[in-house]
Amino acid sequence: MKNSGDIMKIFADYHTHSTYSGDAKGSIKENVDAAKKKGLREIAITDHGPKHIGYGVKKKDIKKIRKEIDELNRVNTDIEVKFGLEANIIGIDGKIDVDEEIREELDILLAGFHFGSMPDKLIEGAKIQIYNVLSPLLPSIERKSRVINTKSVVEALKKYDIDILTHPGAKASIDTKEVARAAVENDTALEINSSHGYMTVEYIKIAMKEGAKFVISSDAHRPEDVGNVKKGIERAVQANLSVERIINAEK
Ligand SMILES: [Zn+2]
Ligand SMILES: [Zn+2]
Repeated sequence: MKNSGDIMKIFADYHTHSTYSGDAKGSIKENVDAAKKKGLREIAITDHGPKHIGYGVKKKDIKKIRKEIDELNRVNTDIEVKFGLEANIIGIDGKIDVDEEIREELDILLAGFHFGSMPDKLIEGAKIQIYNVLSPLLPSIERKSRVINTKSVVEALKKYDIDILTHPGAKASIDTKEVARAAVENDTALEINSSHGYMTVEYIKIAMKEGAKFVISSDAHRPEDVGNVKKGIERAVQANLSVERIINAEK
């Protein structure tokens, strides 16, 4: 069998965190320099949405980040730097924590489930989170939480112009088929996340059948992890996913 690196190459990493996320280590410039070293032509800086407790970007930094990225694009002609955020899905109605005002500053919008994001409506959000914490222990709760999570994701995809759904299936159980259908209808790519182990080969196969498109990303929280997508590529290859279906891959 051919080595997965010979089958496809990733030219962009659309999911990386900088120190504007409380849980990441490198500056935006360090991420960009690392991406150039790896031979990437594009990188997105996608820090956590503002409602992520302790890790979220501060709203007052949005304009500053935009400026920093514009300046990096001015001095670097060999790589395109995009400004994005990894929004948190915070309500059953699909609400995310990136408002219109912030959205206008962004080039790309990612969204996903995270624990420790401040729910929109406290009781509803607490229910979602408690269900997700308990679900591995109790199958009946697992089913219930899957229905709620799936509905939240589908509503978010309908409501907002989300480019990438991050690590579907990680942190919150979802109905992959239903989410994949909504992703196709709303032109959203499903992420194969190289750090989290999601989507799994099984999920990729289910979503493929629905006609979904995919993206393989590092979810780097340190500059040295930017462009590290080996594990994601391996899963894509195992699922027999063709390069044409992956928005940041080429032969
Ligand atoms: Zn995430
Ligand atoms: Zn992330």
